[in-house]
Amino acid sequence: MRMRRKKHGPERIAACSELLINKGDDIATAFPHSELPLCLEIGCGKGGFACGMAAQHHDINIVALERVADVACLALEKAKAAKDDRPTDNLRFMIADAKDLLEIFPEHSIDRIYLNFSDPWPKKGYAKRRLTYADFLKTYRKILVPGGALIQKTDNENLFDFSLEQFEAEGLRTEYVTRDLHNSEYNEGNVMTEYEKNFSSQGMPIYSAKVIFE
Ligand code: SAH
Repeated sequence: MRMRRKKHGPERIAACSELLINKGDDIATAFPHSELPLCLEIGCGKGGFACGMAAQHHDINIVALERVADVACLALEKAKAAKDDRPTDNLRFMIADAKDLLEIFPEHSIDRIYLNFSDPWPKKGYAKRRLTYADFLKTYRKILVPGGALIQKTDNENLFDFSLEQFEAEGLRTEYVTRDLHNSEYNEGNVMTEYEKNFSSQGMPIYSAKVIFE
């Protein structure tokens, strides 16, 4: 996500420091209820999904990762403003790149990974940057618990087809695949992201898959 540089970005981020995990911090102790299953959203953008999930599900902890600090700043401010909506103190953000996941998370520490409207990187030469590229899936396998899940939503059919190929090549078990999430049985309890609201208001279908790392 591109964005004009924010004035006072570092100060605004610092004002939300209680919601921020820094690289090198122990993830488990970042949450008061560290015994709860841990979910990770990669590329949270403005944070609507992470805030919605944390408010609806008090039985999970959520870490939302975003590599662009100015975007993460908006997510942090949204989460801070909505803290009364959360029955549990179960939401944290990290300003970091998914390529560093193995440095951030202990092995087998995450129950579920969410990829919402990830950058499609349409040019062939950039396929390795797609967050469902084989190398990323191998990383996810290391940080997920055995039986952990990856749940993808996207508006981009090409990225979706690419992802399904990568899932199959990695031997993942498909729990569901839908090319029209909002008109499917898998939409129950769906928390919409900012991109998802925008695309679906334009009448575009949302593609979604859930796969299991056994
Ligand atoms: N999930 C949000 C935003 C989608 S745009 C929504 O659905 O509304 C994709 C977001 O992922 C952008 O904010 C971008 O900065 C972030 N992103 C892309 N690659 C990333 C990476 N490697 N690590 C962390 N964040 C990434």
